[in-house]
Amino acid sequence: VIRCRAAVAWAPGKPLSVEEVEVAPPKAGEVRIKIVATGICHSDDHILKGSLPNVEFPVIPGHEGAGIVESIGEGVTSVKPGDKVIPLCIPQCGECSFCQNPESNFCQKSHFSESQNLLPDKTSRFSCKGKQIHHFLWVSTFSEYTVVPEYAVAKIDAAAPLDKVCLFGCGFSTGYGAAINTAKVKPGSTCAVFGLGGVGLSVVMGCKVAGASRIIAVDINKDKFAKAKQLGATDCINPRDFTKPIQEVLTEMTGQGVDYSFEVIGHADTMVAALASCNMSTGGCVMVGVMDSGSEISIDPTLLLTGRTWKGTMLGGSK
Ligand code: NAD
Ligand code: ZN
Repeated sequence: VIRCRAAVAWAPGKPLSVEEVEVAPPKAGEVRIKIVATGICHSDDHILKGSLPNVEFPVIPGHEGAGIVESIGEGVTSVKPGDKVIPLCIPQCGECSFCQNPESNFCQKSHFSESQNLLPDKTSRFSCKGKQIHHFLWVSTFSEYTVVPEYAVAKIDAAAPLDKVCLFGCGFSTGYGAAINTAKVKPGSTCAVFGLGGVGLSVVMGCKVAGASRIIAVDINKDKFAKAKQLGATDCINPRDFTKPIQEVLTEMTGQGVDYSFEVIGHADTMVAALASCNMSTGGCVMVGVMDSGSEISIDPTLLLTGRTWKGTMLGGSK
């Protein structure tokens, strides 16, 4: 058992508290990782508010990390102590029909098909003050050590800088993949990106790499615009600078609406605005933002009837 520090969320609505926790050794088929760096994704904030489904408290959040394998359980062959790794918040067992489908990045042996946030054997490797602490997406990177199933670990290049590549664990892979894998942005197309956090900025990068000719970045915080421009946005607009709805502004700017729009915030009104911003014929909208569990969206069905498509994405379709 390793004793180390972790940021624990004891109950919804309470701030994180840094505690000394016990991390049990990996069981068969599991890997214990020393987490060296972790990012903070807005989804971690959703947990603190208690707005994600199927998350039991107390829990150690964090799902965007990189580290070094500390020890391995019986039967583990793909990594060894000392290897640099990224824990995967969407695992890949490699054997189920979803894993074998090149169009899917889901895995049937994942926490998404379980209504609890424990490891696959329904136990936890974390405890604190005599209490069992839950895992989050099996990765819990807000702990100095974490235990994950072997098929939720990717070995990476030994020279990779862990403080940078940790972003492949969620934010970068999600945004970049939303443009490349989910929307499949075509060269010369027009794009609109709603929300310029770490994920939205990664969508901007994906649209640029795909060869989009115009990338319109939308945010209510104008301090985000300089970075968005540096990464490839051609126009930056603040919905609060207009009296008319932002979908009308975007339609006027582009003639008939953009070819691809991305909602990377997680609000119902911006989801609908993003859908209405893409053109009625072949426009495609990708839902990336996570809405509070139990919330619903209502739309005018004509938006879809005329030919638009609306898709969601988890981790940008990245395997
Ligand atoms: P973030 O908080 O860093 O960024 C959100 C941005 O949206 C901010 O710049 C904010 O100013 C802007 N914003 C807020 N309200 C707005 C409005 N009404 N109009 C325009 N802009 C507005 O968040 P992030 O870490 O980049 O994550 C973004 C969303 O993506 C979150 O909902 C997160 O949970 C979700 N997410 C989804 C996946 C997935 O796999 N689908 C993965 C990671 C994150
Ligand atoms: Zn995330």
